Amino acid sequence: STQVETAEFQAEAQKLLQLMVHAIYSNKDTFLRELISNASDAIDKLRLASYQDKDLQVDTDDLHILIEPDQEQRTLTIRDNGIGMSKDEVRDLIGTIAKSGTAELLQELKDTSDGAAAQELIGQFGLGFYSSFMVADKVTLLTRKAGEDTATRWESSGEGTYTIETVDEAPQGTAVTLHLKAEDQEDRLLDYADTRTLTQIVKKHSDFIAWPIRMEVDKPGEDGESTRELDTINSMKALWARPKGEVEQSEYNEFYKHVAHDWNDPLETIHLRAEGTFEYQALLFIPATAPFDLFSRDQKRGAQLYVKRVFIMDDCEELMPEYLRFVKGVVDAQDLSLNVSREILQQDRRIQMVRRRLVKKILTTVQELQSGDAERYKTFWENFGQAVKEGIVGDPDNSELILDISSFESTRDESEKTTLRQYIERMPEDQDAIYYITGNSRSKIENSPHIEAFRDKGLEVLLLSDPIDEMWVESVPEFEGKKFQSITKGEVDLDEDSEQDAQQKEDFAGVLTWMSTALSDDVKEVRLSSRLSSSPACIVGDNHDMTPTLEKMYRAMGQ
Ligand code: ADP
Ligand code: MG
Repeated sequence: STQVETAEFQAEAQKLLQLMVHAIYSNKDTFLRELISNASDAIDKLRLASYQDKDLQVDTDDLHILIEPDQEQRTLTIRDNGIGMSKDEVRDLIGTIAKSGTAELLQELKDTSDGAAAQELIGQFGLGFYSSFMVADKVTLLTRKAGEDTATRWESSGEGTYTIETVDEAPQGTAVTLHLKAEDQEDRLLDYADTRTLTQIVKKHSDFIAWPIRMEVDKPGEDGESTRELDTINSMKALWARPKGEVEQSEYNEFYKHVAHDWNDPLETIHLRAEGTFEYQALLFIPATAPFDLFSRDQKRGAQLYVKRVFIMDDCEELMPEYLRFVKGVVDAQDLSLNVSREILQQDRRIQMVRRRLVKKILTTVQELQSGDAERYKTFWENFGQAVKEGIVGDPDNSELILDISSFESTRDESEKTTLRQYIERMPEDQDAIYYITGNSRSKIENSPHIEAFRDKGLEVLLLSDPIDEMWVESVPEFEGKKFQSITKGEVDLDEDSEQDAQQKEDFAGVLTWMSTALSDDVKEVRLSSRLSSSPACIVGDNHDMTPTLEKMYRAMGQ
């Protein structure tokens, strides 16, 4: 074998590792779920690769995961015969964290002394492989990639550096060996080299894994002597293929953590089945918190695609529009070819049909939350509302429904958002438009002089301060027959007394003419307004003009 090389973890990875080594996460058992989840993914990838590349020399006859505890050595090995990793992949995948925004998140983590908040932030990472350092003071990884001759051995105690070397021989796939921390052994419940403990953890967190998870266990023999036998611990049942009524929420939750790489329970579970000309099953989840990179450019989207229980791809974009990129889960189709490619999927009308149905189902699920569970709806909207609103413009077929499930800040209440329906219900009879103002932040627009008269007259104004609000409000003509009317544009007629209006116009005619001439280079017109009560003047746009924020956005985009 070649020489052993010592390397440093990327700075971000080091910080995350620190957190794991000093185990601020309370449920340590979850390390096993993470390692099994990785092993299962690796086997999925191998089976797929062998379908797609007929020249790949691999044995796919007995794909499985093996758990090997060793009481004497105080080690636990999780072994799979999946795709394995090349040396560069080990460096890239295990030594670094590629997610953009990681550094910012860690900064946030550093500033919080609240343990629960830290756990929630960590949960957003789905710490995966690093969680092994919760229970091990040294981790050894031995891996050989399918189709390659040499293998790679990686080792670390999680304290900033790791060693990596090329070795001549290893079975195809990956073996992760944990050198268990001594402190955990004292607590019998946490003996991770004990077969009964391990069996319980696997049944609880990884039962649905589609590949056999095997372990040697003691079986009582006929003569009272026990024998060691290789046992398959998990039931291997695909959760999405089981009838809805027979699946426990706790099972859905564990499955969610596996597909979403999340550590928290989902907010909502959507399980549906379509029969008929194009059969499929879908199991989708809405997470409880937004990932920190929800608005980063490289944010992935789409469910995992399976064809007749065979994993085909992660992040199948054709199944989910961008504005629902936070939805996770699985779609298993009966009538697609195992060789299906992204190009084929893009043109497949049946896939477009599936997507339409899933989108409807997700949106109506939120609608049900809204009427049935206000708290959870609020959680949903706080986390994902800003993304969902992109669909008002992006998905015209559903814009009405999206508007219906949206809520907005308004002048009525500081702390409570309002839906458009609620706004309309409160409108005085003679109000015929939904008044709104847009801007960068609530505090800025709230103090805008434009609002004064509306406030004085007790009229509610929507305060739209998300960047995306500028976009949709320009393009959507109305909701439930009520137009959207910007209070900074055109003539908003608030005055009932037109006689007084006429008198005032006469009184101010001279001033107005003088001002119009003086300002003729800068403004189109100077007119009397009833919209102000304490400020002397304000600038308004024409009804067709862009708002200042939108103008700025276009300018920034170079237009
Ligand atoms: P995640 O699973 O969310 O990507 P992990 O930290 O669990 O994050 O794993 C990081 C990456 O390391 C995986 O995406 C995968 O590419 C690789 N990996 C981890 N375990 C294995 C394994 N047993 N076989 C092959 N690749 C693995
Ligand atoms: Mg993982």
